[in-house]
Amino acid sequence: MKRSMLYLVCALAISSYSVAAQQSDNKTIIYGGEIYSSDPNVLHPEAIGIEGKNIIAVGKYQDVLQQLGENAQRVDLKGKYLMPGLIDSHAHVAYAGFQTLTLEFPDGMNDAAAIRAFVEKNNNNPQRDIRGIQFYSNVPLSYWDNIPLLDSVFNSPEYKNIPVVLAGADAHTGWANQAMLIKSGVTAETLEKADANIKSGTILTPDGKITGFMTEGAWDHVMGSIPPMDDAKLSRAVIAGADVMNSFGLTAWMEPLSNTRPLSPMFNASPGRNDLGVLPAYTALAKAGKLTGHMTGLALVNINASPATIDDIAAIREQFSQTPDVKLMGIKIFQDGVIEYPSQTAKLSQPYLNRPGYSGNDTLDKAKYCQLIAKADAENMIVHFHAIGDRAVQESLDAVACTRKANGNSNILHSITHLEVVSPESLPRFQQLNVAASMQLLWAGIDSDGATTTMLEGKVPAPLLTHLYPAGDLYRHHALIAGASDWPVSSPNPLLAIYTAVTRKGELGELPPDSEKIDRAAMLQAYTINAAKVIGRDKEIGSIAVGKSADFVLFDRNLEKVSIESLRDAKVLWTMFEGQQVYRGN
Ligand SMILES: [Zn+2]
Repeated sequence: MKRSMLYLVCALAISSYSVAAQQSDNKTIIYGGEIYSSDPNVLHPEAIGIEGKNIIAVGKYQDVLQQLGENAQRVDLKGKYLMPGLIDSHAHVAYAGFQTLTLEFPDGMNDAAAIRAFVEKNNNNPQRDIRGIQFYSNVPLSYWDNIPLLDSVFNSPEYKNIPVVLAGADAHTGWANQAMLIKSGVTAETLEKADANIKSGTILTPDGKITGFMTEGAWDHVMGSIPPMDDAKLSRAVIAGADVMNSFGLTAWMEPLSNTRPLSPMFNASPGRNDLGVLPAYTALAKAGKLTGHMTGLALVNINASPATIDDIAAIREQFSQTPDVKLMGIKIFQDGVIEYPSQTAKLSQPYLNRPGYSGNDTLDKAKYCQLIAKADAENMIVHFHAIGDRAVQESLDAVACTRKANGNSNILHSITHLEVVSPESLPRFQQLNVAASMQLLWAGIDSDGATTTMLEGKVPAPLLTHLYPAGDLYRHHALIAGASDWPVSSPNPLLAIYTAVTRKGELGELPPDSEKIDRAAMLQAYTINAAKVIGRDKEIGSIAVGKSADFVLFDRNLEKVSIESLRDAKVLWTMFEGQQVYRGN
């Protein structure tokens, strides 16, 4: 008798289970909170209906309910604040994920004893070792002001045969000890015969000795001598990066160097048809259902490349056209470098104060460059320019102007990222030429390691420093502004960038002028629909609208209504990607 009771209980359990499964029928109603859609037609809908990966209804609760039917599952937001999944228009997610697998070099170690203690503490840390090289990542740039300190530790006798690499937080600079320089083949003799990029990026002491501090082209050379990473580690890096993005509510991003791998040369690199970078790792994850974001990849193309290079990129694009969440959609060009001393590779309209006659590289063949950009545009590729200095911004706009003239308006939204110094003449050209501004507005405050510190003052002409990161000016000139982090250069948390864009307040104070602040409504657009446009996916994502991907982030407070200080501290309660919860806060 007992046994039959048990049987009955089991049967009931099974049948009610199957009823529940039927009831769900793959449709879900999300309701009961405050919803920001980023779609001006229905900016604050009451409810959303999703089926599988997609949004199938948006609007009044009763209407959505009627469309989905009583059997749909319910997700009650309990008064919390729902947005479309956020989008970062420039983040090195695979690189940053890789960095999380390495050992970061902390700030503020002011003497050899402190560095030695840190080194010793990590002697058995596997994250520090890259095939026999002691590798430290995300090194604060302030260490470059005290190379003798690094020497005193890492060039002491016990390091004679231990190569050490300190990779700078800006990804444009780094320092290598003697053993690493020898491993990379950088010696006084080889430097003599090296190309101009390596020469100009190898910083010497006043009496002509190699300091180990290197920028861009020369740093590439050091990175090129580190053995390449395998695909398994690369997959772990992508997953680690995507997890962090999801934890901030981000469900899509542009990966600007997708045809290169972490630790491979970037600045004077000319990747070709066989350089697939992080694309295979991303694609494998997407096929296995393990990728939790939409990734738009760009291929790094050298500024001096011939137009035929675009055929190589088109061939790679074709090769990776099978997984919708991973697409190679364009190219990225380093129009210049960085503005900080001592690198000073940003292209300015006036010479650096400490280097008379020098305002950054000035050898661009503009006619040939226009052909390169026009060919990319004709091939339906997004062109994304890295431009820090005002002259680099102008050169980028000139190339697009020339392209629009040659091809007509292709409707492809090209973009310029960083935009630290922009001349007034360039401002109206963004709208005129259909070029978006992809801005890292977390940088638009005064920070210990950022703009307007000792690294710029007295080095960059004062008139160029009066309107850094001019989001207000660009906004008033109707430029489309998209959010971006440049992670791992800085945090990918969009709330920090929104806070700084609105207040211009950094750790060390407010960055003038007031007129460059922009309002939070513009920033909410910047991280949703505008970023979707910049990454070429606004038909699929970027707003809560029928037909789009069911990507959402739920915050614990209303980002439109709370004070800006409170916005900065908002918590992500959960993140959903293609209808599945991929992050849950605690
Ligand atoms: Zn970048």
